[in-house]
Amino acid sequence: MKVLKFGGTSVGTVESLRHVKSIVESITEPTVVVVSALGGLTDNLIATAKLAAEGKAEYKKNMQAISDRHFHIIDELVIEERKHQVNQVITTLLSELSRLYDGVFLIADLPEKTLDLIVSYGERMSSIIVSGIIINATHHNSIDFIKTERWFSKNIADTSLTNNLIIEEFPKGFSSPAIMGGFIASDNVSGEITNLGRGGSDYSAALVAAALNADILEIWTDVDGFMTSDPRIIKDAIVIPAMTFIESMELCSFGAKVIYPPTIYPVFHKNIPIKILNTFNPTAPGTFISDTPSSSSSPVTGLSSIKNTSLFEISGPLTRNLPEINSRAFNALARKGISVYLVHQDDYKSAFSFALNRQDAEKALKLLQEEFAPELSNGNITEIKFSEGLATIAVVGENLHKIEGISTRILNALISGNMEVFASSNGTSKTTATFVVKEEDADKGLNIIHSIFF
Ligand code: ADP
Ligand code: ASP
Ligand code: MG
Repeated sequence: MKVLKFGGTSVGTVESLRHVKSIVESITEPTVVVVSALGGLTDNLIATAKLAAEGKAEYKKNMQAISDRHFHIIDELVIEERKHQVNQVITTLLSELSRLYDGVFLIADLPEKTLDLIVSYGERMSSIIVSGIIINATHHNSIDFIKTERWFSKNIADTSLTNNLIIEEFPKGFSSPAIMGGFIASDNVSGEITNLGRGGSDYSAALVAAALNADILEIWTDVDGFMTSDPRIIKDAIVIPAMTFIESMELCSFGAKVIYPPTIYPVFHKNIPIKILNTFNPTAPGTFISDTPSSSSSPVTGLSSIKNTSLFEISGPLTRNLPEINSRAFNALARKGISVYLVHQDDYKSAFSFALNRQDAEKALKLLQEEFAPELSNGNITEIKFSEGLATIAVVGENLHKIEGISTRILNALISGNMEVFASSNGTSKTTATFVVKEEDADKGLNIIHSIFF
């Protein structure tokens, strides 16, 4: 069996949905199809909620446009015999959504739970509509079987409960194609509607593929495959025919938007390959992601970058004790759900640096000040500070560590391009080298490195 996921880019318009229909209807084996909300809708649902919360009556115009957009697609594409039923369900969902917006407008407040409820309408509606478009399709309500748990202030997948519920939802011989919404979920305790985070439909699809031991997870999007770098930044980026799970994980954790990072773990664990395919060019070979390293001899498979980097520096005599400073700093941050993506130690300075997301920086600073309070007062640590306005460039390839001096070569290329490199590091997996540069230099840096290797 296989699992297909179509992103917002593939379910945005009548035209793109015609492609989805023809791709799914040509499959002969049992299939689960995971769909995102109509392209751009999640952003629009959030923006409209904010308008309502700010007391701006334009939210009503947005609500009308959301409604028109859905009915237009139903009119054009839903199979005649199902039109009446799909119209009824969507009418009910839209009137609930509209009442929610009115409520937000009235109380002029937008609690997180209300926003989670509001954004869920995107996938709840798209999945109903897509199941009305495809011949013989059935609809499955993801909220019943994709479960989340609270982790610090976030919702994360409750993977073991979800795994069991998926197996119950799709028993052997389930009616195919089965359509479900990605992204949406419910809390494992309260049952309230939650989600897997922005871009999370990929993850929903991976959870289903893993639970059902699918032969393959196909991610259908709007580009011909996973490319050597973000095609919006690097005009001559090319499709990577094959890469390993680790390479894709590293590229996605460092900002490649093609796959939502947590997606890779469940399928990697079960050794289920992923294919990245183009809905608008379905015969293109795409990218095959598996545990087999590609036969390419290039040391670099791809590049990615994350803006919004903050670089922390801890200085003082204690930083010479690398194991202690490492484990105490990272444990203090990890206990509060903050992850670090680069570590750097200068031999000549008694300082220890690491990078994390800008939005976690203030909280991280407080946690580190608490953790190292004794050392800050006895002088074993002299300062903990962070700088912002930075970006991290990641250079990824399974062959990277086999080539002597490659990091130095990249570093020199960046410096010759008049760029300041604030920190660099070889990733823990040996597959990645990272470089911290000024945010405004990030695209230029990517271009410089891309032209060396591709
Ligand atoms: P979907 O709606 O299908 O989930 P996304 O917008 O989340 O699509 O992801 C696909 C987009 O990711 C592409 O349109 C492309 O602009 C962007 N992207 C960023 N980095 C890469 C990369 N290395 N390879 C391919 N696409 C990339
Ligand atoms: N619709 C959600 C989002 O835009 C989930 C997804 O598309 O994967 O983030
Ligand atoms: Mg996506």
